[in-house]
Amino acid sequence: MSIGRDVLVIAEQHEGELHDVSLELLSEGCRVADELQGELCAVVLGNNVGHLTQPLAKHGADKIYSMENPLLVDYSGEFYTDALSDFIGDLTPKIILCGATSVGSDLASRIAARIGIGLVSNCISIKIDQNDLLFTKATHGNQVHTTFKCASQPQIATFEPGALEVKKIGIAKKIETMNVAASLNPDKQKSKVTGTIQTDLTAMDLSEADVIVAGGKGVGSADNFRLLEDLAYALGGCVAGTRMALDAGWIPSDRLVGQTGSIVRPKLYIACGISGALHHTLGMKNSKTVVAINTDANAPIFRIADVGIVGDLLDVIPSIVEQLLELKAQV
Ligand SMILES: Cc1cc2nc3c(=O)[nH]c(=O)nc-3n(C[C@H](O)[C@H](O)[C@H](O)COP(=O)(O)OP(=O)(O)OC[C@H]3O[C@@H](n4cnc5c(N)ncnc54)[C@H](O)[C@@H]3O)c2cc1C
Repeated sequence: MSIGRDVLVIAEQHEGELHDVSLELLSEGCRVADELQGELCAVVLGNNVGHLTQPLAKHGADKIYSMENPLLVDYSGEFYTDALSDFIGDLTPKIILCGATSVGSDLASRIAARIGIGLVSNCISIKIDQNDLLFTKATHGNQVHTTFKCASQPQIATFEPGALEVKKIGIAKKIETMNVAASLNPDKQKSKVTGTIQTDLTAMDLSEADVIVAGGKGVGSADNFRLLEDLAYALGGCVAGTRMALDAGWIPSDRLVGQTGSIVRPKLYIACGISGALHHTLGMKNSKTVVAINTDANAPIFRIADVGIVGDLLDVIPSIVEQLLELKAQV
């Protein structure tokens, strides 16, 4: 296969809505394509997904391919791999970018195996060194950043949701949109989606949560932690905490945020009764918006908070929940 300079983003959609990671990949793909002097291509698979062309274009795609087929309406490892492998063979991009979601991770490894190319999974950044692509991922329990280079070309990389920034393209671009026929054989289907179950948001993987309500020693008791659960529930987020909260038995170990716990980057992080020790902030300082609730106006957490509320969380949280519920009732 002779390899071009283009970057291909596999845009992930579910029920006609793009996954945020697709927009993150386009923003980064745009930069990489510019450096490689290639084009940024995006491919979206599904049925009736034509309306996704606009958001893909707004985030930098030069060429948008849509593959429509009733067999692609739900994710199917077999059909998606069949459809994309031939397409990638024809397009010959230099690199293929995919989200490190459950769908993206499954699909990327299938494509890599089918075409026989290198895969770097769960990356957090990408750099170009002359003509080589260098991928960084957090390894050894998030303690070390390791850089990888693929020996084969093209190569496929999956990126952690939230690791890359979304940038909108200000200027109107001239884009090409193409429908690509996906010839699929229904007899080859080995598995199919029989139903979907909504994740229990309070128990979801912290690294995938958009909203995290975290509690520290200032929460005071396991009973008071219920207030944080109410707030998380009202916002569609999940609960986490500090080492102090873990040691007190208020949260399980998979809810710990920080240097020795999870590194998170949600859209909203609400720190309740958390002082802001470095060991903790190392795990959440890249959250898009940080709200801190603390009785001590000099608590270090306020230095990294976008919104600071000096007050007792036992008063503040119920009042926020009440207002959220009122707002929801009005919608
Ligand atoms: C090697 C090592 C690794 C570590 N790794 C981690 C880690 O991964 N994650 C982690 O979190 N910690 C970690 N720690 C611990 C870390 O150093 C801090 O001790 C810890 O984060 C502090 O937790 P905290 O903010 O809950 O408690 P505190 O520092 O005690 O802060 C409690 C805060 O609550 C406020 N408060 C009290 N009452 C109220 C109220 N009613 N309303 C509002 N605010 C109130 C107080 O003003 C105070 O600011 C580690 C420590 C070590 C030595």
